[in-house]
Amino acid sequence: MTKIAPDPSFTVSSLPPEISTKLQQHVEGEVLVDGASRGRYATDASIYQQFPVAVLVPKSSQDIEAALELANESGIPLLPRGGGTSQCGQTTGAALVIDNSKHFRKILSLDLTDSDHATVEVEPGMVLDHLNAHLKPHGLWYPVDVSTAAQATIGGMAGNNSCGSRSIAYGNMVHNVLGINAWLVDGELASFGAYSESTGRAKVLGDFVKHLVDDLKPEIEAHWPKVMRRVAGYNLDVFHPQSELPYTLDNSVNLAHLLVGSEGTLAYFKSLTLKLARLPKHKVLGVVNFASFYQAMDSAQHIVKLGPTAVELVDRTMIDLSRNNPAFRKTIETALVDANIKTVDAILLVEFSSDEHAPLLQKLQDLGALMSDLGLPGSVVMMPDPEMQKNLWEVRKAGLNIMMSLKGDGKPVSFIEDCAVPLEHLADYTQALSEVFSKHGTRGTWYAHASVGTLHVRPILDMRRDGALKMRAIAEEAAELVRKYKGAFSGEHGDGLCRGEWISWQFGPKITEALAKIKTQFDPKGLLNPGKIVNPPKMDDSAYFRYPPSYQVITVQAKLDWSAWNVQNNPVTEAVTAAGSGGDPAQGLAKAIEMCNNNGHCRKFDADVMCPSYRITRNERDLTRGRANTLRLAISGQINHSSDAPPAHLPLATQAVKEVMDLCVSCKGCKRECPTGVDMAKMKIEYLVQYKERFGHTLRDRLVAHLPNYAPIIARIPGLPALMNLRNHIPILAKIQEWFTGISAKRSLPVWKSKHFWNQASLPFTNPEALAKHEKRVVLFADTFNAYFENENLQAALTLLQKSGYAVHVAQPAKNQDEQQPFCCGRTYLASGMVNEAKTRLSALVNHLAPYAKEGIAIVGLEPSCLFTLRDEALTMGLGEAAQVVSKHAQLLEEFLASEHKSNRFVPRFKASAQPILVHGHCHQKAFAAVSPALELLKLIPNANPQLIESSCCGMAGSFGYEVEHIETSKQMAELSLLPRIRKEPNAMVVADGTSCRHQIADGASREAVHIAKVLEQHLN
Ligand SMILES: Cc1cc2nc3c(=O)[nH]c(=O)nc-3n(C[C@H](O)[C@H](O)[C@H](O)COP(=O)(O)OP(=O)(O)OC[C@H]3O[C@@H](n4cnc5c(N)ncnc54)[C@H](O)[C@@H]3O)c2cc1C
Ligand code: SF4
Ligand code: SF4
Repeated sequence: MTKIAPDPSFTVSSLPPEISTKLQQHVEGEVLVDGASRGRYATDASIYQQFPVAVLVPKSSQDIEAALELANESGIPLLPRGGGTSQCGQTTGAALVIDNSKHFRKILSLDLTDSDHATVEVEPGMVLDHLNAHLKPHGLWYPVDVSTAAQATIGGMAGNNSCGSRSIAYGNMVHNVLGINAWLVDGELASFGAYSESTGRAKVLGDFVKHLVDDLKPEIEAHWPKVMRRVAGYNLDVFHPQSELPYTLDNSVNLAHLLVGSEGTLAYFKSLTLKLARLPKHKVLGVVNFASFYQAMDSAQHIVKLGPTAVELVDRTMIDLSRNNPAFRKTIETALVDANIKTVDAILLVEFSSDEHAPLLQKLQDLGALMSDLGLPGSVVMMPDPEMQKNLWEVRKAGLNIMMSLKGDGKPVSFIEDCAVPLEHLADYTQALSEVFSKHGTRGTWYAHASVGTLHVRPILDMRRDGALKMRAIAEEAAELVRKYKGAFSGEHGDGLCRGEWISWQFGPKITEALAKIKTQFDPKGLLNPGKIVNPPKMDDSAYFRYPPSYQVITVQAKLDWSAWNVQNNPVTEAVTAAGSGGDPAQGLAKAIEMCNNNGHCRKFDADVMCPSYRITRNERDLTRGRANTLRLAISGQINHSSDAPPAHLPLATQAVKEVMDLCVSCKGCKRECPTGVDMAKMKIEYLVQYKERFGHTLRDRLVAHLPNYAPIIARIPGLPALMNLRNHIPILAKIQEWFTGISAKRSLPVWKSKHFWNQASLPFTNPEALAKHEKRVVLFADTFNAYFENENLQAALTLLQKSGYAVHVAQPAKNQDEQQPFCCGRTYLASGMVNEAKTRLSALVNHLAPYAKEGIAIVGLEPSCLFTLRDEALTMGLGEAAQVVSKHAQLLEEFLASEHKSNRFVPRFKASAQPILVHGHCHQKAFAAVSPALELLKLIPNANPQLIESSCCGMAGSFGYEVEHIETSKQMAELSLLPRIRKEPNAMVVADGTSCRHQIADGASREAVHIAKVLEQHLN
């Protein structure tokens, strides 16, 4: 056991109890004071960590006013927060953190009087994508299109003066905010807008800044970067414009612009009025391929003269990473002049947009001609097709996240990632900085905004070891280059903890002093986000690091195999060491948890699955990020010092971890959608093992886990199935069961049958040799749920396969099944944290299936959660080569048939469907990209017109939706989109592969959903 000595930086005190009680008495919202909750708000997407003293999730304006009053009385600082996606640590601090993102997300007014000057007023917690979804029907949008559009809040964007990919056409936040209503630190509301019309406190503050600026004009002229991308410090230049793009069209002064980029240090935004833009009707993309990175950088200055709305860079490393990623390969190859050549060193995505299409096509031709003039004929891929453009933008936006998926302690670190230089120097600057990296034994991957000279680059550093030293050295050398080329050191992501110290370097002592005076004028007691912009700490002060050199992981005996994460990497080649060699005392589990870099991508509400619990509660606790942070803090001993302290070897066995895992439905949405592949469903198994070892299994755990054991017994005893089913008809029985087991009386249970698959079906071909004689052959895995409760699905699959000419082996133990139980994938045991039992069951199944798989025979299953256990968890349970080979051949029925159809081996003749078909994908089906094969097959049925329901998890998630404490959340998950969509189409047939999904649909929409096996079989001609 590694001994954990609490690090002083981890024991920052929490809100004194009397103050927290007082706050609780005065607010409607939640006040969170426990270590785990504070820990979840201690980080943003930076390398830093500071525990807040407490967290307030306010429900009303009065709550925020109460917090301001408390701050003034007690001297406790405040830190307003949106999505917490900042990259520089500006959202971390030993303060009362106030999370606006849960309740402050309304549109307050939308002014469409003049469509060319439309405006909107929003609350600060409104997420950009949600705002734009509201605006789209009006043909409008808010054009500061940051990559984190699905998470970033307008308050946070204004706090950081955020900049989007299309800033060359639309400007940054500062160019697009018209007014801010903000609480000053003493609680008074002030309205910041046009200076000429300002009154009251806003005017007084504006006058104060103006006088300062009047005296500083020569300093400002000498030191202020002239590039558009400068976000450091406060925007003093409102009174003496320096930016190449004026803040206002008429060069008038708008006091709201003083607050934009102030990182929560001057005032607390209550509402923001934004300037809207018309959505261009057409866009085209020209993708310029370059054989040399330098050439790409050098060309940017010429390309911008054509008037593009964006010029974005994707470099060689990113191209390679995208090509190696199955989700992105096809798309990136559409951007290359020749998908086979390896000589492309960089591409520039050049976008033009307008309301007319024809001039845009001409722009593409102009781009081609320009590149020929620059000596690169034939280097442009013309992309007028919107779908192709959208896909390519997704790859570009995923750039940082693709990079961050590097395993090992060395990570791409953000600290000089947004220096901006004038375009004419971009090529020399990037070349010189690359040389700096190589001098310090590392390398950077370049991407993003070539149009405005802001290229993102993150050298790989190991902050637990020599990272801080290298960080300082590289920053100093980068700064010299920025100075040489007259650029801005802080060009997009803000100052926070990592660039605060560079403000005085950038502006010199007099302007720095002026910034401090402004801070004092606005916030005399220093209560608003102290230590940011004014009096910042050193960027490399390890007391603020998330992974300081003192960071230690507790020794843990992991139950699953995490060795693939237990590696180190080479910062230059990015090659990783052998699995298991990374030195993680938790055998790779800690390193897997640490893959979460807090980018907040899981805070999303669009298509896909991740994260269903957050979609319901909007609590940081119920988010993949919140879970990963809690696990990290627990496994590194940072939150286990309370009365809840677990035994040393079970750091995850605490109420704090239980709380975050409670609503995780193990949907695996994160496994696929988290850019760094955080697989919380698998981590939940490790937590369950530890928690149950400490506190024991409940009766309900045992009932669920052992279902595959006792199902055959119940089915075999005459009369018992009928007796068991009485519970569904006699309410008092259901209630009694609820009291004893915690299984909700409000749910019907699956219906027991005495006639089931194992005693009804005629089961052909019992060994590989018999099967080998057939050209078309397959193994069918009968899971417990379909075998005992919905045997008609298995029967339909069997009939379908046989009628289509397949010889089918149904996997079953060699002995008479009266003596031996049918095979089981172990899923119910895993869901209850019984890994040893799961391993025993899986091992028997895998050993049976391996000889067939070795013959290349597909193993086909019907229940996604069971079948994918063979593809996924089975590989992490020490089952060796047998598990590997079975995993490669395990497929859902539709995956198998769709691929057979492609190779002309399955050519069914279907009769027409009498109804349109709606398809709900099981979460695991989505996690393994196995929904499209279902749609492909259903499209073969005439008139079926299958439509995929855009839904997250159905909410049933194995036993989750049956549990008395979870039934309401389960229903809410279903009501998010699944059930409303089904109700909207009363005539449609609903197809769902998951047994729990079908149950939820029946309970919530009173509609019978059917397994695809039945649909296909019923439509066979
Ligand atoms: C993968 C990734 C990609 C990114 N891409 C971009 C990009 O393309 N362009 C870009 O500019 N940035 C980018 N960022 C940085 C970040 O996402 C943006 O700056 C974003 O706008 C921050 O929004 P947020 O809601 O998360 O703000 P937060 O991080 O929560 O807060 C940001 C600042 O605003 C302050 N603040 C929040 N609410 C208020 C309020 N009500 N009153 C006063 N101050 C407030 C906070 O105190 C903090 O200082 C990226 C980050 C990541 C992780
Ligand atoms: S869990 Fe994944 S998506 Fe969520 S913040 Fe962490 S890395 Fe990002
Ligand atoms: S498994 Fe599902 S519920 Fe759990 S964290 Fe991942 S996305 Fe969220």
